[in-house]
Amino acid sequence: MQSFTYTRAKTVDQAIAWGARASTAQQGAEIRFMAGGTTLVDLMKLDVEHPVHVIDINRLPLSSIENSADGGFTIGALVRNADLASHAGIRANYPVLSQAILAGASGQIRNMATTSGNLLQRTRCVYFRDVHSACNKRAPGSGCAAMDGYHRNLAILGGSDHCIATNPSDMNVALMVLDAVISIQGPNGLREVPVAEFFLLPGDTPQRETIMGPGDLITQVYLPRATPGARSLYLKLRDRASYEFALASAAIMLSVSGGHIQDVAIAMGGVGTRPWRSAAAEHVLRGNAPSEALFERAAEVFLADARPRPGNQFKIELARRCLIKALGDASTTA
Ligand code: SF4
Repeated sequence: MQSFTYTRAKTVDQAIAWGARASTAQQGAEIRFMAGGTTLVDLMKLDVEHPVHVIDINRLPLSSIENSADGGFTIGALVRNADLASHAGIRANYPVLSQAILAGASGQIRNMATTSGNLLQRTRCVYFRDVHSACNKRAPGSGCAAMDGYHRNLAILGGSDHCIATNPSDMNVALMVLDAVISIQGPNGLREVPVAEFFLLPGDTPQRETIMGPGDLITQVYLPRATPGARSLYLKLRDRASYEFALASAAIMLSVSGGHIQDVAIAMGGVGTRPWRSAAAEHVLRGNAPSEALFERAAEVFLADARPRPGNQFKIELARRCLIKALGDASTTA
């Protein structure tokens, strides 16, 4: 049983001030902002997360979705996943985002889970959630039980000798192709961070998954105006049809004009230590006529750096087929 303080913030400034105070008052003290709690409470029960201070942010005024002046949208950090997926403007302009969210978790979880919480989801590696196993992410320096253990659902891209855990989110993959920008407020002020720079590779510090620092709070996510005429979609492959994490998934944003691909963005989930986007694969596609052969070349480039373990070798072929199928579907509807 681990005791912790619980406080409920009423304003963003109050939450940040409390977070800054808690993060500096006690060296090593862990603070966590709690929104939907769908990850944090689970991990506290498992003794994986053991914050000293929990700051409930559910009453902050961060639950709206607004049109921005330039034709984009701003999404408050506390917008529930269910509300975001069903919002008419999001469904019309960014189908990939709505589809990705609806492909994840269960209806009950989506009713509680928030936009910021989804960005900060922790991995589903089984050893991370078992405090009796070696896990560099949970206990730095303890080793990685997954390397020679059960790693069927873990990453083939972006891993290191210290960790091969997959980023589990579907929403984050969609945000990658939409070039979302994350607003972070903290002890050092406000930062606007492109989602492509938000997630860190594990390297030799797998315990650090994002650029978030102590006392930092995500306040909103900005989506740039959707490319006129572009189509987007999300394809997810998994062991069962619902309430399951991706073995491989693809988010596509693509426009075709004059028989040639113009704008294109592709990202994959279930295969990388972070949501994985490949500029090199997009380069293969841009300016060319859509075809099966072109999509095969793009998939080959996308997966060129894959480094599977014996138990997840199958993901290379699965991801290849997933990407080719998603590109075909997006180009025939574009
Ligand atoms: Fe821990 Fe990462 Fe290894 Fe899983 S893959 S046991 S999360 S270090």
